[in-house]
Amino acid sequence: MSVNLQTPIDYLKGVGPNRADLLRSELGIHTYQDLINLFPNRYLDRTKYYKINELQRHSAEVQIIGKIIGFKEVAQKRGKRLVGTFQDDTGSIELVWFRGQKWIRDSIKLNTPYVIFGKINWFNGVFNMPHPELEVLSEHNNNLRSSMQAIYPSTEKLANKGITNRVLTKIMQNLFLETKGRFTETLSESMISELKLLPKSEALFNIHFPKNQELLSRSEFRLKFEELFYIQLQLILKNLIHKSKIKGFPFEYIGDYFNTFYNDHLPFNLTNAQKRVIKEIRQDLGSNAQMNRLLQGDVGSGKTIVAFMSMLMALDNGFQACLMAPTEILSVQHYQGLSELSKTLNISIKILTGSTKTSDRKKIHESLENGELQLLIGTHALLEDKVKFKNLGLAIIDEQHRFGVAQRSKLWKKNTSPPHILVMTATPIPRTLAMSVYGDLDISIIDELPPGRQAIKTVHRYDKNRLKVLRFMRDEIEKGRQVYIVYPLIQESSALDYKDLMDGYESIVREFPQPNYQISIVHGKMKPADKDYEMQRFIKGETQIMVATTVIEVGVNVPNASVMIIESAERFGLAQLHQLRGRVGRGAEQSYCILMTSHKLSQDSKTRLETMTRTSDGFEIAEVDLKLRGPGDIMGTQQSGILNLKIANIIKDKDILQSARFYAKRILEKDPSLGQKEHLVILQTYRALSKYKNIWNYIS
Ligand code: ADP
Ligand code: MG
Repeated sequence: MSVNLQTPIDYLKGVGPNRADLLRSELGIHTYQDLINLFPNRYLDRTKYYKINELQRHSAEVQIIGKIIGFKEVAQKRGKRLVGTFQDDTGSIELVWFRGQKWIRDSIKLNTPYVIFGKINWFNGVFNMPHPELEVLSEHNNNLRSSMQAIYPSTEKLANKGITNRVLTKIMQNLFLETKGRFTETLSESMISELKLLPKSEALFNIHFPKNQELLSRSEFRLKFEELFYIQLQLILKNLIHKSKIKGFPFEYIGDYFNTFYNDHLPFNLTNAQKRVIKEIRQDLGSNAQMNRLLQGDVGSGKTIVAFMSMLMALDNGFQACLMAPTEILSVQHYQGLSELSKTLNISIKILTGSTKTSDRKKIHESLENGELQLLIGTHALLEDKVKFKNLGLAIIDEQHRFGVAQRSKLWKKNTSPPHILVMTATPIPRTLAMSVYGDLDISIIDELPPGRQAIKTVHRYDKNRLKVLRFMRDEIEKGRQVYIVYPLIQESSALDYKDLMDGYESIVREFPQPNYQISIVHGKMKPADKDYEMQRFIKGETQIMVATTVIEVGVNVPNASVMIIESAERFGLAQLHQLRGRVGRGAEQSYCILMTSHKLSQDSKTRLETMTRTSDGFEIAEVDLKLRGPGDIMGTQQSGILNLKIANIIKDKDILQSARFYAKRILEKDPSLGQKEHLVILQTYRALSKYKNIWNYIS
């Protein structure tokens, strides 16, 4: 009879009510199960013994054999500390106790060989070790111990209340004794044998009490795999359920619109990536299920034409389509671009934004409802209740992270049955992360830029070299180019940032005086109409320099702009720097990105700048970004629970993640309901996990 792992932690030997409360509040450990899943942060090699003359100032925990030859008491601000002199044949250090001094004095035998263990400090020219673990050498040698000692996550409060790593280890031992270390297997036999995984019980034992490095590695692998496997299983299941429940409109035909455009009016040859993605979309749209697809592609990778051709598929089947963008400027650009693409096809297309005149608005509403209007482009204005389609078949959202999930679902309600949804984003999310985060979306990636693009030259310059940078600007403007200068605007310091922006603007106006030069400025405090006016002047080429905050970040397309200067670049995140750089390099000219910084740079800033100057591959940049910031800051990951991983690490363990996903997929393809006998254990584990809030709290 095995012990029920849902038993409250209070019942475990060595725990008791006080400790139970602390374990609950500090580590979220409520049950035996929670305790087993408290995985060590790291391990210490307890086979290594240091000599005192080998100690380094930065040594962490060390283990030394020696004798205590005497004690002294040292008065300090409050009370006193007890200091013992500890000696081996190479030197001596001080052992220090601030608490429990009487007990130490009474129980320690002087001049007897001990093994001490603890963290080394360097203070006033001497090494010391506060509150060491002590064990008489002869006993130490008799004890069976794992050569690698688990170090558990802890908190200050736990440590202060005496729940040290030693105590946690002891409690963990008790748990293994009480359960006899027998735990229910949670993966199927075939997976275990195919992947040569350690059985569950063995993995759990070795993760807490590793017998050797090899078993530890295999235990880690097994447990990480399992954790990721069940997350993937859940994400894929959700997706399958979504597809079976929500019927889409099957776009059965590829008709005249698509074919005419494809055969006669394509403005350029599609890249292979574009072709592949169009095929993926075509497959979704042709099936009975509603499409819910994320299209990722770096800035300039050519998402617009993919969007357009998808829209043509809708039109060919008698449906309407819409495209929603986060800003007025972007909507206008899309409107212009799509009008251009569709002009030979005799398609009715309109734009609807906050500034659309009431009379036009009325006409748009009418023609939408009676079906005369085929394509509608616009901002959030599309979401208003008054906007009703006759038969919306496809909704495309550009720059997805500006829209919430709630807004996405609002689009759904524009119809009796939800339209197909294509979400486009230029924020590259590493594929591994994307597939575990956007479980409810299928993903297409354009990972190839159109041919003939010149790489953008990116350099890092310090503020003191500003004169040279100004000279360079002048030369480029001389050649007919346009220049962006972008300033950071961080919410918390916005007053200061505005001052920087305005100071910068004024000095640029001095350096580039009228009438030879015209300068635009755009920032968030301006009225939308003024912003738009300034933006339009720059787009039309009436101004040569655009001074701005990051409002220009998203999607704006000015092919003649070839220089991007980013002020205080050290204050921007990688994703933002990459987005900003993407504003240039859109035309035929050689483009430049200049990252201006002060001299004081943190290590992370240096890494960011180095990454930007080294590569322009959005996915590579995203990987670095992920490493620097962790997945917590990546858009959309907050709700996904991928952050609450107990043992796996989404970045370091991406190979395991891929394999876990592969197996989850394979099993569900064979057995979508997990009804087969060999999958019983998976079904049971999955159900248990789904109920088990602590692990599974990312169920949305
Ligand atoms: P984004 O993915 O950033 O939205 P766009 O769709 O705006 O990119 O495309 C960027 C530019 O590249 C546009 O000027 C577009 O006409 C051009 N373009 C897109 N695809 C191709 C291609 N296959 N060959 C040549 N130029 C292309
Ligand atoms: Mg775009």
